[in-house]
Amino acid sequence: MNRIPMPNPIAEMDGDEMTRVLWADIKRELLEPFVALNTEYYDLGLPHRDETDDAVTTAAAEAIRRLHVGVKCATITPNAQRVEEYGLKKMWRSPNGTIRAILDGTVFRTPIPTPGLRPYIPGWTKPVTVARHSYGDLYKDTEFRIQGPGKAELVFTAADGTVRRETIYDFEGPGVLQGCFNKDSSIENFARSCFEYALGEKKDLWFSAKDTIMKIYDGQFKETFQRLYDQEYRPRFEAAGITYFYSLIDDAVARLIRSEGGIVWALKNYDGDVMSDMISTAFGSLAMMTSVLVSADGNYEYEAAHGTVTRHYYRYLRGEKTSTNPVATIFAWSGALRKRGELDGGGALCAFADDLEKAVMDTIARGVVTGDLAGLLESRPEPVDSAGFLSAVRAELEKKYA
Ligand code: NAP
Ligand code: MG
Repeated sequence: MNRIPMPNPIAEMDGDEMTRVLWADIKRELLEPFVALNTEYYDLGLPHRDETDDAVTTAAAEAIRRLHVGVKCATITPNAQRVEEYGLKKMWRSPNGTIRAILDGTVFRTPIPTPGLRPYIPGWTKPVTVARHSYGDLYKDTEFRIQGPGKAELVFTAADGTVRRETIYDFEGPGVLQGCFNKDSSIENFARSCFEYALGEKKDLWFSAKDTIMKIYDGQFKETFQRLYDQEYRPRFEAAGITYFYSLIDDAVARLIRSEGGIVWALKNYDGDVMSDMISTAFGSLAMMTSVLVSADGNYEYEAAHGTVTRHYYRYLRGEKTSTNPVATIFAWSGALRKRGELDGGGALCAFADDLEKAVMDTIARGVVTGDLAGLLESRPEPVDSAGFLSAVRAELEKKYA
């Protein structure tokens, strides 16, 4: 058959362990037979990051900025044990952290509703998207222990030498201390990517923080969202029939539990980290969630929300069959191919992305599922291994692309 052409490339970032195995299987079974894949390949597998002194990660992030679309496999963030396991030159930083810092954007995570699986919150009939700011705050903090009495101060020395100083606390004994920051430009990028994403998805946008306590810090986030909404986005939201609304984060969790879902929930970096695991679990599994990093200047990086599934990989290395769920990784590819198609005005690639996702959902609806889902479904189907799942999806696809 004639494969679907792909005139412009996307940045392809390979990764580690079980997801690296699935990566190659997905390409061979579900992509290459149907699409004339056009990618710039970056091997972010830990051995190659080590070989290149992690330069490959930066090169990959720059490729996303140049090509506007990237797809990334899960990667190991090394700790001391990994340094030993892989004989690394050093404990390289998290590739996701490096890429996020270069793209300066927002990570959107949306559960993929599993046919036959009731969310833990029965009222949530529509998936909730978490929009997590992925710059600064606690993830770039400075912290230390205080060994004994003394005064902690917050000091800012302006470029012109002016000093501003405020007492944080007069310690009468030992304790801990932490400082963190964010930038107006990054907060504004965050707000813009949330407004644009909500418009694209035609979903209401909520932003939640705690500006009653952090009047200046969280206040800056709240004020930025409100200003951009009032000055720029309100007419487009009204035309799309959606709303923007701010609420305190504790009020928002209560409202969300009572809601039917279906919103985009914008959250600061830490809040988004915590809440996205709660949302994904409520809808089933980390392996049933899409994740895309969107930068305000229009770059998109698609990935799975889960890690490299190390425990399954060690079983795979022992020659055992694994029942690792490839859905989030397949949806990373379909998301990237659809976006490439949209940017290039090419309908066939977008249609293929839709068909691929439909083939996955039809396969699950037939009860062909991996172990993680089999245990959650009321029908208790017998799980298939990863290869069995992929070949069932391929059979669905071939019905259409024979
Ligand atoms: P993980 O890879 O997400 O796996 C944790 C557990 O969740 C697995 O052992 C498995 O449970 C279940 N699971 C996750 N994905 C699954 C899938 N697709 N199918 C079936 N079950 C799945 O997290 P981890 O074990 O904490 O981390 C492993 C490595 O991944 C670490 O080196 C970490 O640095 C890296 N990591 C990378 C990313 C990323 O690149 N985006 C994100 C997180 C972690 P059972 O074993 O009970 O079946
Ligand atoms: Mg987390």
